[in-house]
Amino acid sequence: MASSPDTKNTIFFGEQCSEILNNYIAKSAPSKVFILCDENTHEHCVPLLFQQLPADLNSELIEIESGEAQKNIATCQQLWATLSELDADRDSVIVNLGGGVITDMGGFVASTFLRGIPFINIPTTLLAMVDAAIGGKTGVNRAHLKNQIGLFSFPVYTLIDIKFLSSLPQNQFKSGLAEMLKHGLIADKDYWETLSDLSQLTLADLEKLIQTSVALKTQVTSEDTNEQGRRKLLNFGHTLGHAIESYCLDTADKTTLLHGEAIAIGMILESYLSVKAAGLTTESLAEIKRVILTTFKKVSFTEADITALLKLMKFDKKNSHGQINFVLLEAIGKGKIDCQVDDTAIMAAFEYYLQD
Ligand code: NAD
Repeated sequence: MASSPDTKNTIFFGEQCSEILNNYIAKSAPSKVFILCDENTHEHCVPLLFQQLPADLNSELIEIESGEAQKNIATCQQLWATLSELDADRDSVIVNLGGGVITDMGGFVASTFLRGIPFINIPTTLLAMVDAAIGGKTGVNRAHLKNQIGLFSFPVYTLIDIKFLSSLPQNQFKSGLAEMLKHGLIADKDYWETLSDLSQLTLADLEKLIQTSVALKTQVTSEDTNEQGRRKLLNFGHTLGHAIESYCLDTADKTTLLHGEAIAIGMILESYLSVKAAGLTTESLAEIKRVILTTFKKVSFTEADITALLKLMKFDKKNSHGQINFVLLEAIGKGKIDCQVDDTAIMAAFEYYLQD
């Protein structure tokens, strides 16, 4: 498995990004630069990227259809074939220009083509900037199992420039915000408090907040690249959140939720469980619910939904030896891994979430 690189020298922000990219191209003289995008990043982000690249660059654009449904081996096979037809070799580089689907799948395709060619992540969603493009996880979904196929592999650089966010739809922006709130809840109370009121947010503030999230995620992942211990903290809100996301996707009368929207619900539910099993105070729980519901609107669940969700959770990949493992909070800013709770507590958590 890959060990974590020195992220201080591989993750860059803002204006530095174009200089880093151009220096890399000048120094390593890639045989070809392949830019992987989807139709949305093609329209909104490729023009911005080309403004900063040398005019005579030997590049090829490879576009895939946007969306989680494309993140699978069939798309990878097309991408490997396209790279081969376009004479990609070990001296080529792939630039992943997009959200988490592009960075996850592009990283995987690059790391497996010819036993691995270099790649650079340029995340264009808030979620990819603070989460997906950081930490070295690459991969794709198989059947209904999210990220079942993949490997730990690090990009040469991750270049984070908020100029790409200007075209991002509001709901996608909120999806990233959920992961940032999570970073505060598991590891940094001050950060949580800053995020609790974003009414005066400026672009300069946003860049600083993204840097804080990136620092938190890289700190947690570099101590535990292969997810044996501390990295599991990042799963706060995800045990129930993932189940809710999959359930809403697969159930005809449910509105599909974005990843962050499902995680937001998961964080309220798992905060309730934290009061029962990890020592979080009821005041903190009320604060978490209030802050999250300011940004994310409440979703309704029937008793039948909750029973079906409990069943689904038993298949979550974070379960070991048949136990459902939760990350809970001892306090705001202090997560605790490998906690267990019973089904009754989970039912009660939904009741708490649904009540006014
Ligand atoms: P996404 O890549 O599907 O992007 C969301 C939507 O925004 C897409 O329609 C995309 O085309 C569009 N888009 C992207 N950038 C845009 C821009 N600048 N302007 C306008 N539209 C833009 O989804 P996402 O939320 O970025 O990422 C979700 C994926 O990330 C999931 O597959 C998830 O499994 C993965 N993920 C991975 C990790 C990891 O550690 N590797 C962590 C979290 C999530």
